[in-house]
Amino acid sequence: MVSKDELLRRWERTVERLFRERVIRTEAVRRAFLKYPRYLFVEKRYRDYAHVDEPLPIPAGQTISAPHMVAIMLELAELGPGMTVLEIGTGSGWNAALIAELVKTDVYTIERIPELVEFARRNLEKAGVENVHVIPGDGTEGFPPKAPYDRIIVTAGAPRVPEPLVEQLKPGGKLLIPVGSYHLWQDLLEVVKLPDGSTETKNHGGVAFVPLIGEHGWRG
Ligand code: SAM
Repeated sequence: MVSKDELLRRWERTVERLFRERVIRTEAVRRAFLKYPRYLFVEKRYRDYAHVDEPLPIPAGQTISAPHMVAIMLELAELGPGMTVLEIGTGSGWNAALIAELVKTDVYTIERIPELVEFARRNLEKAGVENVHVIPGDGTEGFPPKAPYDRIIVTAGAPRVPEPLVEQLKPGGKLLIPVGSYHLWQDLLEVVKLPDGSTETKNHGGVAFVPLIGEHGWRG
């Protein structure tokens, strides 16, 4: 096991490389990454590898995404203070912690696997994050109590864009979601809701996420 200092040094090197390569583009995302290193959100046995730019296993056969993937989605989301954000697919809680740091207000995140709801809550508590609310349930239905949202960020791959998520976006709001095949190949879509309620979709290319399972996702 490497020391805490070494974990931090390795993490800082990863963040600086992502910044140099313009994957991390803004100072705000860079600061959030430095505040919440990925090693705080993985099990002990994976801590020494948390700086490696690849997904890592978390409990229940799921994954914590690679740092570059998280950075790409956060930069596309263009988050700012005060925005209302819903994340779907809490997993480890890491992405939710980064979102919370960027919006500086309450963040809602939904996870369907109870073991991961507990895992994320423990990680967030240990990391000192207080404004993330982990909701157990099927995120393909969205989370109506706090809708409408400025941003909805889905971190699992869907067969299509779930209608409830579009409904729960504010006009001018943005949904980021991987859409494609069940097994690890999707396109990262950015769906913007226009003032008249119609949508405009941009495709940001190929990504690989675990499946989004639920009423408006894949059937489990
Ligand atoms: N954002 C996470 C993080 O920072 O660690 C990584 C997410 S992991 C790639 C995808 C997560 O989506 C898994 O934890 C999985 O259980 C969850 N998931 C899949 N379908 C879901 C659904 N319908 N509602 C909520 N969570 C779902």
